[in-house]
Amino acid sequence: MPEGDTLRRTAQRLHQALAGDPLERVDLRWGSLDGAALVGSRTLEVVSHGKRLLHRVEGGWTIHSHLRMEGQWRVEGLDSPQGRRALANPQTRAVLDGTRWRAVGLRLGELDLVRTRDEATLVGHLGPDVLGDPLDLDEVVHRLEGDPRPIAEALLDQRVVSGIGTFWASEILFVRRVHPWRPARDVGADELSQIISRVARLMQRAVVTGVQGSTGETRRGHESYVHARSGRPCRRCGDTIRVAMAGRAGQERTIFSCPTCQGGLAPTDDGRRQAPLGPRGRR
Ligand SMILES: [Zn+2]
Repeated sequence: MPEGDTLRRTAQRLHQALAGDPLERVDLRWGSLDGAALVGSRTLEVVSHGKRLLHRVEGGWTIHSHLRMEGQWRVEGLDSPQGRRALANPQTRAVLDGTRWRAVGLRLGELDLVRTRDEATLVGHLGPDVLGDPLDLDEVVHRLEGDPRPIAEALLDQRVVSGIGTFWASEILFVRRVHPWRPARDVGADELSQIISRVARLMQRAVVTGVQGSTGETRRGHESYVHARSGRPCRRCGDTIRVAMAGRAGQERTIFSCPTCQGGLAPTDDGRRQAPLGPRGRR
């Protein structure tokens, strides 16, 4: 699932392609949404908040989208073959043409058209954006300090802090050597502050480089310390990386960790052998 760094890059790409230009086509293939009122209005800006995109258009309109698991925005040349094919693609949920570029939203998880002044009805429940400039670190730490849930689960809750998904949750807890199932309220304000400020820096770097990685390595298969590496040796201590679930029944998410570096197995982990994950190769 795309995380905050991917969404920020997507917003930047859409902004570069469309900002300042009038929209010549607003084709929203989502329920009864009708973008006709936006045609001829200029795109003011495209920004991300956590895992959501806000495309603000002159006249006080915002197109909001959420990629969820498989969504994607692409930018194509208006008259390119890919741009033309996108119109007929059954997975296309939105087509926004500027004067030079066509933005195509594929397999989107959510699509809304709201008055810009009403954006809070869509994103107001979310916690501070981990990529916020400035990041409201005190507020995020305050929210985590009182949270009885495992720290991994709290970090993944977009109402606490928005933008962190399973990649960054696993990686930052490894980097900080924190047990993912320790209650957030027992972690301590200083460590919580370190966790959030460090993951924000790593994600900012990922926005710049385009590589979702925490190790500083850009070679494919070497970007993570623990994420997707269960059954493989820890890059720090050599113990075997484990995977376990965090979150409530029905909403569980995978968390990877090193039992030696991070203080033991998950409460639900019986320690049985876990086979390395599939086809992505030897890591
Ligand atoms: Zn280790």
